[in-house]
Amino acid sequence: MASVAAILKDVRTCTLCAGHLPLGPRPVLQFHPAARILIAGQAPGRKVHASGVPFDDASGARLRDWLGLSQEVFYDLRRIAILPMGFCYPGTGRSGDLPPRPECAQTWRPILVPQLRQLRLTVAVGRYAMAHHLPEESGSIAEALLRWRDHGTDPRLMPLPHPSPRNNLWLARHPWFERELIPLLRQRVAEALSEGDQPSSN
Ligand code: SF4
Repeated sequence: MASVAAILKDVRTCTLCAGHLPLGPRPVLQFHPAARILIAGQAPGRKVHASGVPFDDASGARLRDWLGLSQEVFYDLRRIAILPMGFCYPGTGRSGDLPPRPECAQTWRPILVPQLRQLRLTVAVGRYAMAHHLPEESGSIAEALLRWRDHGTDPRLMPLPHPSPRNNLWLARHPWFERELIPLLRQRVAEALSEGDQPSSN
């Protein structure tokens, strides 16, 4: 089996869907097998494509606030892994960024995610990550969140709406999300980072 370093080298030189990427391949991810929390995002936007730093934008600032994490902890790759569904900027359509390229998750997730042997919590950010990590959820993000809140579904996996400013209207229409679920999310995050080192089944 290839080492993590070799896998990451292959990811960083990947050109699999280069023909579909308007700015060319530039995978943006954060990964170390010791990470306790996986942030499953969507895909880099233009700003993140330029900086090469995941969630280095307004979405990231809100996400860190939701998670209750400082920049220092959020960017500690031994604690937090960040794997968007598409690692490269997919381009922009009429109503915002295009969906993450499907080849990316199909190719890289089955190789990378099993390397996270200390994984305690996966945070599925936005509908593309939710569709992948919670395939049984066919409804809206609000419905998935309410089910998660009301029925105590898998505590190791939490869906989130995308923290983009484009979702401000959604957040205004669903005030229970920040009032009720964010405290729970922060608690889960703190627990995941402080738990012992026993291997996880997730
Ligand atoms: S989006 Fe993913 S599959 Fe496509 S070139 Fe980038 S790393 Fe490769």
